[in-house]
Amino acid sequence: MIDLRSDTVTRPSAAMKAAMMDAPVGDDVYGDDPTVNALQEYAAALAGKEAALFLPTGTQANLVALLSHCERGEEYIVGQLAHNYLYEAGGAAVLGSIQPQPIEASRDGTLPLDKVAEKIKPDDIHFARTRLLSLENTHNGKVLPQGYLRQAWEFTRERGLGLHVDGARIFNAVVEYGCSLKEVVQYCDTFTICLSKGLGTPVGSLLVGSAAYIRRANRWRKMTGGGMRQAGMLAAAGQYALEHNVQRLKDDHDNAAWLAAQLREIGADVMRQDTNMVFVRAPEGAAGALGEHMKAAGVLINASPVVRLVTHLDVSRAQLEQVVAHWQRFLTR
Ligand SMILES: *Cc1c(COP(=O)(O)O)cnc(C)c1O
Repeated sequence: MIDLRSDTVTRPSAAMKAAMMDAPVGDDVYGDDPTVNALQEYAAALAGKEAALFLPTGTQANLVALLSHCERGEEYIVGQLAHNYLYEAGGAAVLGSIQPQPIEASRDGTLPLDKVAEKIKPDDIHFARTRLLSLENTHNGKVLPQGYLRQAWEFTRERGLGLHVDGARIFNAVVEYGCSLKEVVQYCDTFTICLSKGLGTPVGSLLVGSAAYIRRANRWRKMTGGGMRQAGMLAAAGQYALEHNVQRLKDDHDNAAWLAAQLREIGADVMRQDTNMVFVRAPEGAAGALGEHMKAAGVLINASPVVRLVTHLDVSRAQLEQVVAHWQRFLTR
């Protein structure tokens, strides 16, 4: 099957699996796993931050991030469609008694700082204490403008807030900007990286920040059940991904741009393409039928009125040519 539902569907390559098999391991809860330690140090150095923590999933990394920034009765300002507000089952509220203050994002994926300012609560017993601004980069494929990140950084310094970036796809931003990770994350206190999306590992995320912050996060990781033992086998996949699968994300972006152009050419209603995502409107009332048609042709998509197609390392240009052909057959059926 050609699977365009998400970049989470990627599978570890033979070379990645070989790296996993050969990884030296120890008990990471004791801090004894050399492969986990090496990955954490490597990621922190790459980011120009002091420390990093390896976690099983991006959802847990975001949860631990929020728990380490905010105490019970405090709040974070976040986008209405942000993963760590909308798609994490309310974890920060349920498990941390942390109140989300969602606001509408602009079309470019940024949270307007004047709107953020309006939501910062005064020091008054009626209100939760506003502690954190949480951004997402990339957000639905959109790369946040670097100038905005600098403004958000200065704004949060002035207002005494922390700044967290959900960087599940931060390396898609890195290759799109054509700059280093360090440059992209210089304007945040903490950020996460998802290793199991376009980077192609079977599992794993990283939370990156100051040494003191990561020490706090390590306790929360343990409490939330994320302290793994011989996790080096998984961390080895992450190390492999950071060394081999970052620059190739550009191929995914090129493939997404190509796919968008081809779909437009055959008359599909392509709304936009950003980084490795293409958003296409299904013909009126025909989303289900489109999904069935594509599935019968060996192509998996999320069959909704707006279809999100995600390119990744397990789909080639040749396979995308087939996707376009099958799509055209549906439009001219
Ligand atoms: C995928 C994703 C996550 C975390 O996902 P997991 O499936 O838990 O690893 C977090 N934030 C964003 C923006 C994501 O796309």
